Parts: sequence; C-alpha cells; structure tokens
Amino acid sequence: MSGNKTFTMIKPDAVAEGHTGAILKMIEEAGFRVVAMKKTQLTPERAGQFYAVHKERPFYNDLCDYMSSGAIVPMILEKENAVTDFRTLIGATNPANADEGTIRKLFAKSIEANAIHGSDSDENASIEGSFFFASTEQY
Ligand code: GDP
Repeated sequence: MSGNKTFTMIKPDAVAEGHTGAILKMIEEAGFRVVAMKKTQLTPERAGQFYAVHKERPFYNDLCDYMSSGAIVPMILEKENAVTDFRTLIGATNPANADEGTIRKLFAKSIEANAIHGSDSDENASIEGSFFFASTEQY
C-alpha cells in the first residue's frame, strides 16, 4: 500500500447506533475514496491481535471486549495525504478533546467507545489493511 491510503474501521458503538451511513458520508465528502469495505465482527482474540501494541496498557482487556462486542465496518481509503488528513477528520482519541465537526466529536461516546479508528502511519495503514483484506490491488 502506498502513502495515499489509510485504514479505518467504524467501531461497535457507532455501528450499533446506526451511524455507519452518516460517517461514510463524512468520509466521502472529505474526499476519500472507499477502496475496500465490509461488515464483520472480531473475536476477542482477533481484537487482541489488532491492538497487540497496547498489550501492556491497563485498558487492553476492556478494549478487546469492547471491540469484539458487535459489528464493525473496516475500510481501506484512498486520498492524497490519507493518513494525516484522516486523523484530522476523526479528531482526538478522547472525544472531550476532539475538535468541533470531527467524527469523534459528533459520534464518540467515550475515550474507549470512540466511534472510529484511523491508522497513525503509512506502515500501520498497510499492516492494518492486510489484517482485514487479502488484497486491494484489484479495486
Ligand atoms: P487512537 O490512535 O486515537 O485510536 O488511540 P490509541 O492508539 O492511543 O488507542 C487505541 C484505542 O484504545 C482508542 O481508539 C480507544 O478506543 C482505546 N483507548 C485509548 N486510550 C484509552 C484509555 O485511556 N482508556 C480506555 N478505556 N480506552 C482507551
């Protein structure tokens, strides 16, 4: 995956509350093209693998339970400067600190149930995209 792609997933709280369409609209209106998308659910073990980098953090077990509690919508997105621009669109991890108009400000319920994920680097975008999608070259 090159530097113009990022990976996201709409998290269980936002999917369960019916915000998938509104979030997708914001993503497309911000200029991102959906390269790959599906609806799926993680097991606690798969959620643990995805967030392995946080294994030592006190919230790790809660995070794995939350991320496997319901359906998610993972996506690969394409746009110039995708990783940075998408992090701007979603806002800070804690919605209390997120800028007005960001996805997390509008839809997140808490620092944990914060509506959406966005990769923090090109390298992680590639790793995380491959976690959910076999190949995106054909799209
Ligand atoms: P992100 O890159 O903005 O998603 O933030 P991080 O990589 O630091 O954390 C990954 C995810 O773990 C966040 O999106 C939250 O769902 C969750 N998380 C982060 N910090 C906390 C925390 O202090 N408490 C809890 N319960 N969850 C957290």
